[in-house]
Amino acid sequence: MSENIFSTSSISLSKSAVRQNVRFVKKKLADNVLLSAVLKGNAYGHGIEFMVPLFESAGVRHLSVFSTQEAQQVCQVKKPTTDIMIMGWMEDEETEWAIKNGIEFYVFEMGRLKAAIHFAKLLNIKARIHIEVETGMNRTGFEENYLEEVIKVVKDNLDHITLEGLCTHYAGAESITNYLRVMDQIDTYKKIYKQFTENELIPKRKHTACSAAAMSYPETQMDMVRIGILLYGFWPSQETLIAYQRSNGYGQEGVRKVRHPLKRVISWRSKIMSVKEVPVGEFIGYGTSYQAPKKMKIATVPVGYAYGFARSLSNQGRVIVNGKRVAVISTVNMNLMIINVTECKNVGKGDEVILIGSTGKVKVTVASFGELSNQLNYELLSRLPIDIPRGVVI
Ligand SMILES: *Cc1c(COP(=O)(O)O)cnc(C)c1O
Repeated sequence: MSENIFSTSSISLSKSAVRQNVRFVKKKLADNVLLSAVLKGNAYGHGIEFMVPLFESAGVRHLSVFSTQEAQQVCQVKKPTTDIMIMGWMEDEETEWAIKNGIEFYVFEMGRLKAAIHFAKLLNIKARIHIEVETGMNRTGFEENYLEEVIKVVKDNLDHITLEGLCTHYAGAESITNYLRVMDQIDTYKKIYKQFTENELIPKRKHTACSAAAMSYPETQMDMVRIGILLYGFWPSQETLIAYQRSNGYGQEGVRKVRHPLKRVISWRSKIMSVKEVPVGEFIGYGTSYQAPKKMKIATVPVGYAYGFARSLSNQGRVIVNGKRVAVISTVNMNLMIINVTECKNVGKGDEVILIGSTGKVKVTVASFGELSNQLNYELLSRLPIDIPRGVVI
C-alpha cells in the first residue's frame, strides 16, 4: 500500500485467493480448454494493473477485456507472451493498433472487418479476429443473413486474417428460467459453426461460455472459456452456487455442507470517523428512513456512494467492526455512511471497518449485499473507484 496517498479507504488483493480460484476453475474445465480471464470493468473493480500479474502468476495466459482502452492498460503490465482479446468497443481505426500489437479482437459488423483487412494489408501483419455471431442474446454478433458474406470476405482475405475464434454470448446462463433460451442458443451456434466448416473456414477456437455457462452447461466450454466473476471469488448467482453444491452431494443423506471452493480476492477497509450516542425515538441521518428504536450508539465511516458504496445499501448493507457484523443504517450519503455499533464494546474513532472481507469466521461479501441480488456483485465491484489505493497480500 502506498504510504503517501491520502484516502478514506483501501483495498487489498489476495494472491493466494487468485491461485485457488484459478485452480478451481481449471479443475472444472475439460481437457484442453483454454482459460481466458476477463478483466473488463477495471478487473471487476479490483484494478487491472494488479490483477494482470496476479493472473499470470497463477498460470493464466489469455486475458479478455472490453475495449482498446482496457487493452492498452493491460499491455503496460502484461508479459510479452500473454494474449489479449478485445470483446467489445474499438473504433475501426483502432484495429491498426490492435493488429500492430498482436491483439485479438471481436468482429461483429462489416465496418470493423473491412477496417481490419485494410490495416492488416497496410501493416503486412495478420489481424487476429474472432467472429461473433448472433445466437439469441440480441446484443452484438453477425445475424444469420450476413454470414454468407462474412465467410466469403474472411476466406478471400486469409492472407491478412487469422480466424482465431467463432464466438457468442449467452443471455443469462446463471438462471434456470433462461434454460430454453440458452439451449436454443447452443443449437444455433452449432448450426453456424457447421456453416463455417462446410465452407472450409475453420475457426481456431470455438468459445461461448462465461462463468455461469461453464459451470452449469459444460458442453458450452468448447475450446476456450471467458471467466470473470468466479476468478474473483464470487458466484454469478445463488442458483449456480447451489447447483454446484448439489452436484457435490449437498442435501443427500449425511452431506450437510460442501466446502466453499472459491476465495474472495478483494477486501476493502476503512475506519471509524466518529462515534456518538442517540436517544430513543430520534431519526438518524437524512429524512425519516431510520428511527432509533432504543438508545443507540452509532458511528460514521468516510465511505459513501461517491466512493463506490451503493446507495441501494441504505438500511441494508452490513460491515464488520471489531469482529462483529453490524448494520448500515439510514441512507448512504455521498461521502459517508452511518452504522449501528450499539452492540460493539469499546468502539472508537480509528477502529477498522471492513466493507468487504472477513475476520475470523465473520464475513461480509458484496453480496451480503448480494443475498439481496447477485447482480449487485458485478455492479458494486466494477464501480469501486480507480483511485482507492490497492495493494497485494499473500
Ligand atoms: C463479462 C463477459 C464474460 C464473463 O462473465 P462472467 O459472468 O463474469 O464470467 C464473458 N464473455 C463476455 C462476452 C462478457 O461480456
